[in-house]
Amino acid sequence: MAAKSSSHPVTLIPGDGIGPEVVNAVKEVLAAAEVPIVWEERYAGAEVFKKGVGSGVLPETVESIRRTKCALKGPLETPVGYGEKSANVTLRKYFETYGNIRPVRELPGIRTPYSGRGIDFVVVRENVEDLYAGIEYLQTPGVAQALKIVTRKGSEKICRLAFELARAEGRKKVTCATKANILKITEGLFKRVFEEVSKDYPEIASDHQIVDNCAHQMVMRPEQFDVVVMTNMNGDILSDLASALIGGLGFAPSANLGEDAAIFEAVHGSAPQIAGKDMANPTALLSSAVLMLRHLGELKAAQTVENALLVTMEEGKVLTADMAGGGREPSGTKAYAKEVIKNLGAAPKSFPRREHKLLKMPVVSHAPTLVKAADRRPMGVDVFVETDMSPGVLGPKIEAAVRGLPLKLAQISNRGAKVYPNELGVESDPVDCARLRFKMTREGDALTDAVVMEVLSRVSSYAVWVHVEKLNKFDGQPAFTKDAGED
Ligand code: NAP
Repeated sequence: MAAKSSSHPVTLIPGDGIGPEVVNAVKEVLAAAEVPIVWEERYAGAEVFKKGVGSGVLPETVESIRRTKCALKGPLETPVGYGEKSANVTLRKYFETYGNIRPVRELPGIRTPYSGRGIDFVVVRENVEDLYAGIEYLQTPGVAQALKIVTRKGSEKICRLAFELARAEGRKKVTCATKANILKITEGLFKRVFEEVSKDYPEIASDHQIVDNCAHQMVMRPEQFDVVVMTNMNGDILSDLASALIGGLGFAPSANLGEDAAIFEAVHGSAPQIAGKDMANPTALLSSAVLMLRHLGELKAAQTVENALLVTMEEGKVLTADMAGGGREPSGTKAYAKEVIKNLGAAPKSFPRREHKLLKMPVVSHAPTLVKAADRRPMGVDVFVETDMSPGVLGPKIEAAVRGLPLKLAQISNRGAKVYPNELGVESDPVDCARLRFKMTREGDALTDAVVMEVLSRVSSYAVWVHVEKLNKFDGQPAFTKDAGED
């Protein structure tokens, strides 16, 4: 078919396992709906890894997405024993698709323990920061560490996106779920930024839940949610939980949104057990295609395809294996897609329609954000060391070693708990990585780099230093957490 002048170029990645089957279903349905799309088929995933491309993504795939700014993607197998990393994560990072959007809505004809409760919310997950920045170290052969990166800029982008989404979909409330009660600096920053951003959206209610309670609430009373915004790992876990509420992986769509590109995909993976058997449920990818059509401004086409999909589920005449049961015979992926095509133009009886406006991507400054403190004071230094000495033996040696310097050993901690001096006689089971916390002897004095170097040199006589962190005060506020047991 010749491309219409207003056609949208979209990069299409068939993916692995059931990917090509569900992608084909989407192509057929969108062609039948006469949606003006020109597909550019490109490759990523298992076959690309096997060709020796360590990222799992071919350069021509990256080039295509850079040009089309929009991709529909089948699932990509994550390599076990070959390749370097997840091709999904690579794509996310290439295109800084920082916003992961996962709608969770009760579907007609899909029976779950929650049927009839009107579940209808969207999980908005930060998609590039947090523990998924993937910065990990073995501090010692037996002590692993990952850095949880939460930035003011990244938090602002995702929180604004959550409120913009609420506006585009006429939703009334945004809930922020964090672990700020324990992770006061990282999750605390996310919560604070959420509270600041919420002031720019006075017509939308906002609230906060501790994320473990949020998990509990999602299972107990999911109908209370409208939009839920979270940092990466919390969002990863709770969005999978949420998809189980409406029927499972076969039904869960997602959008990965960035400023320069958007990638739409089902939440599920390549399901190798059912690959090539015409058994996969294409609903999740079809619903992802509906999100893509809205993103492209094809609001009417999105409604037509979504309606056809809803009618197919509502009538339940043709079902894939994961929907069948209770005496109902399953059909295949191809038959299901044909039924959706047959239903193009029909509207569901039992599914309240939601008006969608175009989602406005938030504009946040591109300047590398230096959030400046008027007063910045390094007041000490933490030196992490590898040692098998007991704190009671190591402590006095380090105290003696730094004598004469303008700082002193304030304490030693192990896995975040103070173990020296141990005035309270706290029982602990230390590992071979200890933190030596040094503070300036005279309050108000600032630490210099030369003193840090000297500390490292002197500490090295007793233990191997593995990691150093400055203890700053920004505008009079400590920029670090206290140990359990620290005054
Ligand atoms: P999975 O592929 O999502 O499959 C888990 C199970 O869910 C399947 O065995 C199947 O259950 C069911 N299922 C998933 N999608 C379905 C569909 N469309 N229709 C019907 N049933 C469906 O998860 P996994 O087995 O953990 O992962 C397999 C591979 O996919 C891994 O390499 C993983 O890294 C990758 N993965 C990729 C993505 C992505 O590209 N975004 C996401 C997740 C996982 P039954 O066996 O009961 O039929």
